[in-house]
Amino acid sequence: MKIKLGILLAASIGVASPAAAQDAASFLEAADRAVGASSVNSISYSGSGWMGAVGQNFADGEDWPRHVLQSYDRVIDYPSQSSREEYVRVQGDYPARGGGRTPIIGERHTLEFAGGGYAWTLNGDGEPVAQSPEDAELAQFMIAVSPHGIIKSAMAAADVTIVDRYIPSQDRTLKVVAFTTMDKYRVSAEFNDKYLMERFMTQIPNPVMGDMQMEVRYEEWTDIGNGIKFPFLFHGHQGDHLLTARTGMNWLNLNVSEATANVADAALNVPANVRNAPAPQVNVAAQEVADGVWLMAGGSHNSVAIEFDDFVTVVDAPQNEARSLAVIAEINRLIPGKTIRYLINTHHHWDHLGGARTYVAKGATVVTHESNRDFYRDAVFAPQIRTLSPDTLSRNPFATTGPGPAALETVTDRHFISDGERTILIFNVQNLEHAADMLMTYLPEEQILINADLWGPPPAGAPPPANISASAVALYDNIRRLNLDIATHVPIHGQPGPHSDFERIVGPAAIQRQAALEGGG
Ligand SMILES: [Zn+2]
Ligand SMILES: [Zn+2]
Repeated sequence: MKIKLGILLAASIGVASPAAAQDAASFLEAADRAVGASSVNSISYSGSGWMGAVGQNFADGEDWPRHVLQSYDRVIDYPSQSSREEYVRVQGDYPARGGGRTPIIGERHTLEFAGGGYAWTLNGDGEPVAQSPEDAELAQFMIAVSPHGIIKSAMAAADVTIVDRYIPSQDRTLKVVAFTTMDKYRVSAEFNDKYLMERFMTQIPNPVMGDMQMEVRYEEWTDIGNGIKFPFLFHGHQGDHLLTARTGMNWLNLNVSEATANVADAALNVPANVRNAPAPQVNVAAQEVADGVWLMAGGSHNSVAIEFDDFVTVVDAPQNEARSLAVIAEINRLIPGKTIRYLINTHHHWDHLGGARTYVAKGATVVTHESNRDFYRDAVFAPQIRTLSPDTLSRNPFATTGPGPAALETVTDRHFISDGERTILIFNVQNLEHAADMLMTYLPEEQILINADLWGPPPAGAPPPANISASAVALYDNIRRLNLDIATHVPIHGQPGPHSDFERIVGPAAIQRQAALEGGG
């Protein structure tokens, strides 16, 4: 009885028939021979190219902002599932538009390690620092879909299938091998008639996009000795979306200059403090900055809660659902009995949007720039199942009777929220290179201005920042344009600070730039 049930279940979830599994297995053996995957224990490769800052485009529908990948070095060791990745980015000639700390001033170094299901980086003193379990899982997955890793993963998978796919535009037929790896991720890989993998497609979890599309092309497979081939061109996308008007979302282009298989000492040991690192905690530290105005700090990104007569408005829901749940719990404790009616989304960058779905699930209306309307309705807040990382909204029952699309209130130039007693004003920040849709929130009574990514006041007594960003200058110009009286800046990053500091530090740079513009005719 047990056995029969097992067979029934296997059939109903579409496990390949024995003959088809045999086809896939013999095809993968040929694919393995073509590039020597099974004989690769480790691989070291270097190159250069460009990288896109995923989730940080200037405006929705535009491509990710690019930075030059000046150097890139990676070593992967398969038996220990470890990886060392080091790269240096510079701004180069790419336009200084969008987020991801654009423009890069000088060089930006990144060094990341993974091994045994852990991920870590090094702090300024060279000490290992554990990254989140989510980062560690993604790092492990990227090893599983690396050029040789993907063959190994497919050969180890229990559910591998193979089909022909005719590509009319190229008049050729590719073999598509599909499988599940790490008991979670579905991967489909396309092979040409030389048994070389040209592209794989998959989905990875993302707080904004849900089961987010990722695809990588491995091209220019080149002989690197001992019957081993390696692709000398990587081209990757992240965040393509079939149902919204988007361009191809280019994440990576790497021209490999050198690759060596089976290098010495490629396996990494997981540092003890990384292995024993406690699970990351969400820390919320509330601070009343004016009567009924709370800065919800405690992490890398703040929210601001503003109490109205019979509801609450929150500015920004950064990062992810875990942060939103903690912030909402604290708001409910501080301001009991009032629902969060509005969530003001400062801009569409994913680090400022990743927690917004939680507020939508709890019935809040999202106030955002008009340019985000379609993308938010059709993708970010779409009533849809999310399988890789379900959240409160994706677990809501969806039916033709509701809930329908998320409630959105959009802003083109200016907007307000009022209960008759308290009024707050919301303005689009113009002539900004960081994000086209940026909203700042002004509390006229308290003379508070809330901004994201434009101005983080330096701590009292600290020296002024070495570089005055173009975003700070744009904020200065917008404050002038709108004639706002400001006492205090309340930032989404950092701590509140007086407007006098802003005038003193940013004012001269803004006046200088204005003079330069006029002088230049
Ligand atoms: Zn931003
Ligand atoms: Zn930010």
